[in-house]
Amino acid sequence: MIKGLYIHIPFCDQICTYCDFCKMVTSTHNKKEYMKALVKEMEYYSDLLEHIETIYIGGGTPSSIDDDLMDAFLDELDILVDMTHIKEFTIEANPNDITPNFLEILRKHHVTRVSMGVQSMSEDLLRFLGRTHTDEIVEHAIDLIKTSGLNFNLDFLYAIPGQSLEDLKKDLDYIKKFKAHHISYYSLILEDRTVLNYLINKHKVEDFPDDLAREYGELIDIELEKLGYHKYEFSNYAKAGYESKHNLIYWNLEEYLGIGLNASSQFNNTRMINPTKLSVYLKGIQDKSLTMHNIEDFNPKLETLLVGLRKTEGISMSAYKERFKKGVFDIYPQLKKFLDSNLLEIQGDYLRFTSEGIYLSNQVYVDII
Ligand code: SF4
Repeated sequence: MIKGLYIHIPFCDQICTYCDFCKMVTSTHNKKEYMKALVKEMEYYSDLLEHIETIYIGGGTPSSIDDDLMDAFLDELDILVDMTHIKEFTIEANPNDITPNFLEILRKHHVTRVSMGVQSMSEDLLRFLGRTHTDEIVEHAIDLIKTSGLNFNLDFLYAIPGQSLEDLKKDLDYIKKFKAHHISYYSLILEDRTVLNYLINKHKVEDFPDDLAREYGELIDIELEKLGYHKYEFSNYAKAGYESKHNLIYWNLEEYLGIGLNASSQFNNTRMINPTKLSVYLKGIQDKSLTMHNIEDFNPKLETLLVGLRKTEGISMSAYKERFKKGVFDIYPQLKKFLDSNLLEIQGDYLRFTSEGIYLSNQVYVDII
C-alpha cells in the first residue's frame, strides 16, 4: 500500500556550491510547463494515491515557484488527493521566499509543515555555500511561519570548510531561540560534480577534518538533547510527536510514489526512477510515453538494513524475520563481528548502531553491500 507521495520541483534561484541534487535555474515558461506536467503525471497515477497519508514537496526549491502558479498546482492536488486522510504535508522553502501570501496559500491547501533550509547563521559561511539569505531574513521568515501556525523544520549544516566552533555555537544559540519543531542537522558531505569538490581538489579550499566533524556532531547531539530534541535518525532531531512521518516511510522501507524529474518510487518490491533530463521528462508526459518509471536494482533485504539502521532505534529483528522468512544474522552473518567490536548492539528486539557506531557506520555498510 502506497503511503507517501513525493513531488519534486527541481528549480532554484541560485545553485549552491555543495549541492548535487537534481536542480536547475530556469525560465518562468519552463516552470509553468513543468507544473502542468506534474499534474498530468499525478492524474496518470491517481489510482495509487488512494491510501496516501503523507505528502512531501521537495526540490530544488519548491518555494521558488511563483505564488499564483503554486496556488493553481495545489488546487489540482486537492482534487486528486483526499486531504482528510493526510497526516502530514510538508513543503520545502527558502527563507527568501517566505511571505504572508505564500504561507496563506499553504494553509489554504492543507500544508501542515514547512521545511526551511537555513544551513548556517554566519554570513561568511552562507556566502561560501552560495546561499543568498541573511540571518535577518531567516529570523523574519521564522516569525512569519510561527504566526501562520504551521509547524516547521530547519535544515542546518556542520563541518562546513572554515566553520569555527564559535560559528557552530552561534547556530546552536539561534536554534534555542527559534524553537522549531524539528531540526535536520547534516554533516556537509563532499559530493562529486560540485563547485566545492572542485575547489578542494584544486587545494583552493581546505577540507574539514574528520575528527573535528565528529566533535561538532557530538556537541550538536548534546546541545539539542538539552533543548528537548530527541535524535531519532542519524541527522534528524524532533520534539516529541514531531518526527517526520514522510521520511519515516523511507526509513521503514514502506511504499511511496515519486512524481517529477528524477523522482524515485518504491512499491510492489520494485524501485523506479523518473528521467533526470527535463526535456526527456516533459516529452514523456506530453506523448504519454512516460507510463512507467525506469526500474532500478532493489534488494529489500539489504535496503531494510541500509535505511532502517539510520534510525536510532534500529530495526526490529522479529519484523525482519517475518518479512524475509530468515533472521537478519542468517542473511548477514558478518554483522555479528560488529556486535563484538561494539559498533552495533541489540536492545530488546532491536538491532541498532551504538553511539560510537553511528560515526563509523560506513565500516558496517561497506561490509554488507
Ligand atoms: S542546496 Fe537546495 S537551494 Fe541550493 S542548489 Fe541545492 S536544491 Fe537548490
